[in-house]
Amino acid sequence: MKAIFGMRANVLASIISSVSALATGILTASVLAQGTAAAQTYPARPITIIVPFAAGGPTDVLARVLGDHIRADLGQPVLIENVTGAGGSIGVGRVAAAAPDGYTISAGHFGTHVANGAIYPLKYDLERDLDPVARLPSNPMLVVTRRDFPAANLGELVAWLKVNPGKATAGTAGAGSGAHIGGAFLANLAGAPLQFVPYRGTAPAMQDLVSGQIDLIVDQAANALPQVRQGSIKALAVTAAARLAAAPQIPTAVEAGLPGLQMELWNGLWVPHGTPSGIVVKLNGAVVKALADPAVRDRLATLGLEGPPADQRSPQALRAFQKSEIEKWWPIIKAAHITAE
Ligand code: ASP
Repeated sequence: MKAIFGMRANVLASIISSVSALATGILTASVLAQGTAAAQTYPARPITIIVPFAAGGPTDVLARVLGDHIRADLGQPVLIENVTGAGGSIGVGRVAAAAPDGYTISAGHFGTHVANGAIYPLKYDLERDLDPVARLPSNPMLVVTRRDFPAANLGELVAWLKVNPGKATAGTAGAGSGAHIGGAFLANLAGAPLQFVPYRGTAPAMQDLVSGQIDLIVDQAANALPQVRQGSIKALAVTAAARLAAAPQIPTAVEAGLPGLQMELWNGLWVPHGTPSGIVVKLNGAVVKALADPAVRDRLATLGLEGPPADQRSPQALRAFQKSEIEKWWPIIKAAHITAE
């Protein structure tokens, strides 16, 4: 081995590696110290929650309810920014690329933080580039149609779809959104294709359903129930195991004769990877407190939103849950050929 300035290369290499380990240690310690200091003064300015779908939709409503409580608890304004498009992947990408300082938060759900990874060529990694803050309540889906659609129940809808394959238009919030996955699930079980119409969220899709521009949506209860209550659309079934306390007149898909149609969309909050853990703990504390607040629980319950179980509210629990959902669903989504096209 060649000697460098009289020193053997392996000795030099070990000195370099010790010096660099020391430097890394000093750097890590100083980053940690900065993180702790940042966590102590956090939040010192307004926080932004990026909702990756249109205003007034289910993700937006949930983010606004929680945002009000985070503001009250942490003492800084919480702004909601709707960054829409590509099934929510544009908004989530904005957060993945943001500074890891706790001032930019991603609101999302199973579609944006699990399914999109199997559907889109994302520029970010859902697990590596985002750190979980808290799992949020789940929402079953309702199969809803325009008021004058010629089907009085789920059985009649399935029969109509079979006789008219590909004719019914189904609103979605883009490929990979809950409404798209729910609609694909329904089409698959019915054995008849749907014609998907993508919107920037199911809030605008719902407007078109109410005005009769599209035929149906498999939508989150939170978005559909207010219109069902007003009688401006028809609810044929809920995709939960039991009827919703908030709308007990709607039969379950099991009762309506399509037992395979079971689906709940769980929600969550994430921050850019590398956000100091003290900040994540503060945010998680504010969210967990909000979820335990009886007024929040009641408000969410009227929209059919429930849970999550108390032991599933930590950042670690969301990380493990998201990982297990990715492992479970990516192969299913890929096998079902659910794509961005
Ligand atoms: N969460 C979406 C929204 O807020 C809808 C969806 O994923 O289906 O519009």
